[in-house]
Amino acid sequence: MDAKAKAIEVHRRLIQLFGERPKKQHLDPIAQLVSTILSQNTNDVLRDKAFTALRQRFSTWEQVRDAPVEEVSEAIQIAGLSQQKAPRIQQALRRISAEHGELSLDFLRQMDVAEAKQWLTAINGIGPKTAAIVLLFALGMPAFPVDTHIHRVTRRLGLIPTSTSREKAHDLLESLLPQDAYYTFHLNVIRHGREVCQARRPRCELCTLRDLCDYYQNAVRQVEAANEFQKSQA
Ligand code: SF4
Repeated sequence: MDAKAKAIEVHRRLIQLFGERPKKQHLDPIAQLVSTILSQNTNDVLRDKAFTALRQRFSTWEQVRDAPVEEVSEAIQIAGLSQQKAPRIQQALRRISAEHGELSLDFLRQMDVAEAKQWLTAINGIGPKTAAIVLLFALGMPAFPVDTHIHRVTRRLGLIPTSTSREKAHDLLESLLPQDAYYTFHLNVIRHGREVCQARRPRCELCTLRDLCDYYQNAVRQVEAANEFQKSQA
């Protein structure tokens, strides 16, 4: 089975398990960008606490942009790495205002996805995942964000080569699935990664994707080879 056919079959089985994900109302694009910067190297709970603290401290994004960096850093401290994240947030807000005269990312809707990604990732501290999250969730554009769960699960399955970097995985996975599958596939693979294909000890015995999975098939072959070897030594 080639990678495209396998990706579509994985998508089909995960929908059977977890369902199709209806598109929800997400944050507006600027808020999504800030929230995604806050999420770097932390968990969702701390990200959300930092985001709420930032919104409570400053009434507008213009105030966040123009505040002394120490004040922004203090507001988002709970998310960790606040001394990196505060200047990143302010630089992003300043760049958007400087180039477009207002704090809005709606101009990205006029670009194609590759161009929009390029614009966003040219900002210091915005990588392919942050860019794809803003495009997919806040702007409804066909980009596929790859987080740590998606990177791990798709390499184990053999959808992408095991040596693929997380950055490269974005484009590879986008090429395997139809664009209208990105939203549900993204959320379902993350859930599968959290609940079944966990980082330290994948729960393969519970997994519905075993017959499609390179990691599992290799493990089975190794056990069979070891058994054969033991038999030959008996
Ligand atoms: S079979 Fe195991 S390694 Fe493969 S996707 Fe399932 S849980 Fe992950």
